[in-house]
Amino acid sequence: MNLELSEEQTAVRRLARDFVDREIAPNVVAWDRAEEVDRAIVKKLGEVGFLGLTIDEEYGGSGGDHLAYCLVTEELGRGDSSVRGIVSVSLGLVAKTLAARGSEEQKRRWLPGLTSGELVGCFGLTEPGTGSDAGNLTTRAVRDGDDYVINGTKMFITNGTWADVVLLFARSTDVPGHKGVTAFLVPTGTPGLTRRTIHGKLGLRGQATAELVLEDVRVPASAMLGEEGKGFSVAMSALAKGRMSVAAGCVGIAQAALDAAVRYAGEREQFGKPIAQHQLVQELISDIAVDVDAARLLTLAGRRPDRPRAPLRRRVLQGQAVRLGGRRTRREQRPPGLRRLRLHRRVPGGQTAARRPGDDALRGHEPDPETGHRAGADRGFGVLSTT
Ligand SMILES: Cc1cc2nc3c(=O)[nH]c(=O)nc-3n(C[C@H](O)[C@H](O)[C@H](O)COP(=O)(O)OP(=O)(O)OC[C@H]3O[C@@H](n4cnc5c(N)ncnc54)[C@H](O)[C@@H]3O)c2cc1C
Repeated sequence: MNLELSEEQTAVRRLARDFVDREIAPNVVAWDRAEEVDRAIVKKLGEVGFLGLTIDEEYGGSGGDHLAYCLVTEELGRGDSSVRGIVSVSLGLVAKTLAARGSEEQKRRWLPGLTSGELVGCFGLTEPGTGSDAGNLTTRAVRDGDDYVINGTKMFITNGTWADVVLLFARSTDVPGHKGVTAFLVPTGTPGLTRRTIHGKLGLRGQATAELVLEDVRVPASAMLGEEGKGFSVAMSALAKGRMSVAAGCVGIAQAALDAAVRYAGEREQFGKPIAQHQLVQELISDIAVDVDAARLLTLAGRRPDRPRAPLRRRVLQGQAVRLGGRRTRREQRPPGLRRLRLHRRVPGGQTAARRPGDDALRGHEPDPETGHRAGADRGFGVLSTT
């Protein structure tokens, strides 16, 4: 499996890093305390093209592949998983499903807004009584002439109070289990649909997670996405497309935690030197670095395969070129105490080896004295990516 990053993928990752450092990182604490991210972030995500990744330009998308999508969602997770969740749901679950399964009319109606950030989408599968066992959902859609009338409650819906459209799953036939489920695109302004934000979450606190109550919500039959009775397959294929971004976002969280630990170890002094210069602390940090890189590689290797994709849209790459001017190298950004930190390797028996610069096992990661090239790092998955 080739995990080498193309020029384009490297560029989009840099763009995402800069975006996170500029637009998200300075606000994270305030958003977490307020239990709400600034809604303006959605428009910004759209402007930079992140809400249109993998979607064809014809529908307002930014092109690119699932690897680029994972790179962006990792960076967003590093900044704030609540923001990552907006993208994972509005793009990953809703827009991508529309692009794959929607009618031409549905695509033209919803995709340009969702990919630009003018509109937000949410995914209504879970109910108070059915979480993991989603095939047994009880929300009902009853045919009435040319319409369906929907009644039920959806729970823990990401973007729920912000969304303009919900990809909703309801039982439309008497067939029990997952075969009776049908997918609908329901505008959230439809009479009978009410929403309540759920507060007091332990994590993802800035994310607008909501309960949706549907009382005699009437939608035309043309709101059905895919065929009647095939909604469960729509839901499962959507989740298969969306989950990789959750995994990538978790790698981003782990990376952020590691960055914080590295920063602190470079600042905090004990016994007359930064604690980063104590060998045991170096071992702890390098252990975490190995685990984060392993999780990253596993996520990228396990991402959904791509069909041939259009190149990333020009605006994504142009944006990145402008923002990269004057950027310092990652090595220079490392705290002095950790500039010489190098990765160790695991050896049989669970021991670790070669934590000191100059040890044989580290040679592959030292910059080549002539070219400055670091093995691994230029492939985009360098073991020093944590520093
Ligand atoms: C922050 C947040 C955002 C969310 N966003 C959305 C969203 O946008 N859209 C949406 O539809 N849903 C959303 N969800 C709901 C999420 O998908 C459900 O929480 C999930 O499906 C689990 O359902 P549940 O919470 O009802 O737990 P349950 O299904 O009741 O599970 C309870 C426990 O039992 C375990 N369990 C269940 N079945 C089995 C089994 N067969 N074998 C062994 N163990 C089992 C589970 O692992 C869990 O530990 C969100 C949830 C959260 C917390």
